[in-house]
Amino acid sequence: MADTFEKKLSSAVDAVIPKANAFFKDIEKRTKDGPGVTRPPYLEGEQIGHDMVAEWAGELDLETSIDAAGNMYMVYPGEDRDASVAMTGSHMDTVPKGGNYDGAAGVIAGLAALDGFRRAEITPKRDVVLMAIRAEEAGSWFTGKHGGHMGSRAALGMYMDNELETAIHLGTKTSLGEAMANAGFDPDKVANEPPHLKPERIASYTELHIEQGPVLQTEGHPIGIVTGIRGNRRLKQGKVLGEYTHSGAVPQHYRHDAVLAAAEFINRLEKEGLDLIDQGRDLVFSSGIFHTDADVNTLSKVSGQLDFTLDMRSMDVSALDEMQKIVTGIAHDIAEKRGVTFDISDFAAVAPSPMHGDERAKLHEGAKALGIDAIDVASGGGHDAAEFERMGVPASMIFVRNDRGSHNPDEAMDIADFALGVRLLAWKLAMA
Ligand SMILES: [Zn+2]
Repeated sequence: MADTFEKKLSSAVDAVIPKANAFFKDIEKRTKDGPGVTRPPYLEGEQIGHDMVAEWAGELDLETSIDAAGNMYMVYPGEDRDASVAMTGSHMDTVPKGGNYDGAAGVIAGLAALDGFRRAEITPKRDVVLMAIRAEEAGSWFTGKHGGHMGSRAALGMYMDNELETAIHLGTKTSLGEAMANAGFDPDKVANEPPHLKPERIASYTELHIEQGPVLQTEGHPIGIVTGIRGNRRLKQGKVLGEYTHSGAVPQHYRHDAVLAAAEFINRLEKEGLDLIDQGRDLVFSSGIFHTDADVNTLSKVSGQLDFTLDMRSMDVSALDEMQKIVTGIAHDIAEKRGVTFDISDFAAVAPSPMHGDERAKLHEGAKALGIDAIDVASGGGHDAAEFERMGVPASMIFVRNDRGSHNPDEAMDIADFALGVRLLAWKLAMA
């Protein structure tokens, strides 16, 4: 490792790690829910997280403010206070009964980096702004029409018309706007005033997050530098409509069996998808919901309806286009052959977000200077960083090895790996 700055920074960060570890243990205890933790957006669990973060920020004398959507900003002054800022952050909410590190690790890493700056008397080139983001786990907490990542999209002014009304919070059974208002924030201001963040004032956004897949663990590296965030093509309300008939009386060839049609559909889709993967295309896909109506169906009925979802993700938008075409083709073919109808009309698309090339290169440079073993990885899950990148902010992500996936209580992050991630984040924020 190069002498002087990197050494000074690394030991300053290492001195803060026990405090970060104590924070993880404390927030876990305070938001425990069965085997995992639950920190619902705009409700008590998330607020506990924000209060704990504010307390640490207060000890560091950071300039703290909160926007109309409840996101919190903590500023550490840099050399040039007029320059565009270096941002970092992540979210404090979790999925129901989720893991302790998904989201919180990024905010705590930011606090630990700034605490390290304070201890070692390091002044970054620009102001560093740490953002504790609200409601990132929107996919688990909101139904109705919405674009996800509620906190960062509010801050960046990315809401669709009426999204504050059409997004329904599953925990409060109210609209997003009402959930925000009940938590003490100002949805009218979110709807009617200019967004809090101005992309042209942000030099970069760097987010640390646990890896949500097994790549770093399997390949034996503590740190990943994210190449990009997969986009998706999703069918939220697919249906196969056949005909309910007597399961004994009707000859097999006269039936329009929704279950058998759906089974053929999903098998053929898997085969075609695997062919694309074998050709080297980036692709993952699943059907998380796949069921008949237990209130209507019985053991002795041929099934007349099957409801299903599709979630297809890729870094490559042409692979998603191709899969959607395959879905349509197979559905058409099976519909003709079996006399059933497929409803696959509500496909929604999110474009892939490659992370910023210069920012990734900077992270690799930092890892090298700090002697940290880091490799490129793709992100399968969505993150706030993608929203920043979409708005033209150069964005990048640092992944920390994590043994057992995320969105579950078994997330397992080694605090020594976390310390390496914080060193790299701190280096990036100081140099940005
Ligand atoms: Zn997350």
